[in-house]
Amino acid sequence: MVRYNEYMEALTASLVGIVGPEHVLTGDAAAGYAVDWTGRFRGRAAAVVRPRDTGEVAAVLALCSGAGVAVVPQGGNTGLVGGGVPLHGEVLLSLARLTGLSPVDRDASQVSAGAGVTLQRVADAAPDLDLPIQIASRESATVGGAVATNAGGVRVLRYGPMRAQLRGIEAVLSDGTVVSHLAGLTKDNTGYDYPSLLAGSEGTLAVVTGARLRLVPRLRDNVTAIIGVDDLPALHELARQALVSVPGLVCAEFFTAAGLSVLQAHAGLAPPLPAPSPAYLLLDAAGPGALDDLADLIGDLPAAVGESAADRRRLWSYRERPPEAAGFLGVPLKLDVSAPAARWAELASSVGAAVADADPGARVITFGHVADGNVHVNIVPAGPADGRHEDSVFSLVASLGGSISAEHGIGALKAPWLHLARSEAERTLFARIRGAFDPTGTLNPHVLPR
Ligand SMILES: Cc1cc2nc3c(=O)[nH]c(=O)nc-3n(C[C@H](O)[C@H](O)[C@H](O)COP(=O)(O)OP(=O)(O)OC[C@H]3O[C@@H](n4cnc5c(N)ncnc54)[C@H](O)[C@@H]3O)c2cc1C
Repeated sequence: MVRYNEYMEALTASLVGIVGPEHVLTGDAAAGYAVDWTGRFRGRAAAVVRPRDTGEVAAVLALCSGAGVAVVPQGGNTGLVGGGVPLHGEVLLSLARLTGLSPVDRDASQVSAGAGVTLQRVADAAPDLDLPIQIASRESATVGGAVATNAGGVRVLRYGPMRAQLRGIEAVLSDGTVVSHLAGLTKDNTGYDYPSLLAGSEGTLAVVTGARLRLVPRLRDNVTAIIGVDDLPALHELARQALVSVPGLVCAEFFTAAGLSVLQAHAGLAPPLPAPSPAYLLLDAAGPGALDDLADLIGDLPAAVGESAADRRRLWSYRERPPEAAGFLGVPLKLDVSAPAARWAELASSVGAAVADADPGARVITFGHVADGNVHVNIVPAGPADGRHEDSVFSLVASLGGSISAEHGIGALKAPWLHLARSEAERTLFARIRGAFDPTGTLNPHVLPR
């Protein structure tokens, strides 16, 4: 009989044979890969493996699936649902070394990027072109992770999520088979659109090793405004008006006094407006006429408007820093939910009371992408991990016809509640798709229920 330790030593030796000794980490050297950005999800990796190219990824996967060892893919480790950390002693496959970036294809306005390239690096690839996806974690979040989570962010209303930017993909199946479709054709109706299927698959179907991405003209004449409003229904109505009256609208975001007060107390952030408001709408627009359109919309409401890069950055910090706010109070539970447009105000206004019913001691900080119907709900302290907070928020969301994951995915965090969002028939179809891609159940077995 081969003992577990001997078995793992043999596996580790084989991994070393593929990627070299300096790229197989165990023990303390592997610990940093086993905890997520929030600190809420902590696990342990059997080993961390850091291949340098698609061939090494394929060899690692063939080895692990053949040995019956589960694998968790990881990019920048900025995911918020515990999907990219080894919570059950899996092998952690880091794609961080796949950093190849092609020259920009100026005929097609496209670029090919390795899975480990950060979103910021893609955005910086050309002075006049930009990556449509913009998220606050862009300095660390990777192309592979953004595809796997179908990342959204602040410009979804204008450009759609990561899936809409995909013009091709290269990926490795769990048995080591490489599938590649990177020609970047805008029109290509030659069968199943598996790049689209991999977008949002959370590392459960295949390991993304590269992607062909569309770039868009860099926006000009940008204007940012923060507008103080009396309540969330009024905020939603103002955002709705902006969608129809500001043709250059790029972002419609919100944050509330609850998060702002924490940042004022713990980070010395000065208030955005002379008088406090219960809630704030941040609008960003671009192009000729954007300033006038925003001014017409704002009218007499209290507002701060910025046109210079420095002023806009300052105003944006009020929207980008609320995710930090909860962290000042403890380890947060971060839920990210959405509702149909007509029910958004109901969701955003009542989620705090729903959490208070379940846990009167919890503080709730909300912010998010109002034009996408998206509310990020941060609960702190997260209290006992007995599911009471998730139950309260997800039941409310389900009753409003919304989604329990607007953009972060299901991961390990939300797997027990998937039935609230997807029917049994849909979940059965998911399992069949998963079985077709990964028959050995090697990839991220604890993410999304099988
Ligand atoms: C401050 C902050 C702000 C954020 N803002 C937003 C936001 O506005 N919108 C948004 O959508 N998200 C946001 N996020 C969440 C996160 O940044 C995104 O989900 C991001 O796309 C994750 O990329 P990553 O490289 O860090 O992936 P990881 O965290 O490493 O992994 C995420 C998931 O993808 C899988 N995965 C990673 N790489 C691969 C690969 N190459 N192949 C297959 N599977 C893979 C992992 O197994 C895991 O399930 C934010 C996070 C933080 C910390």
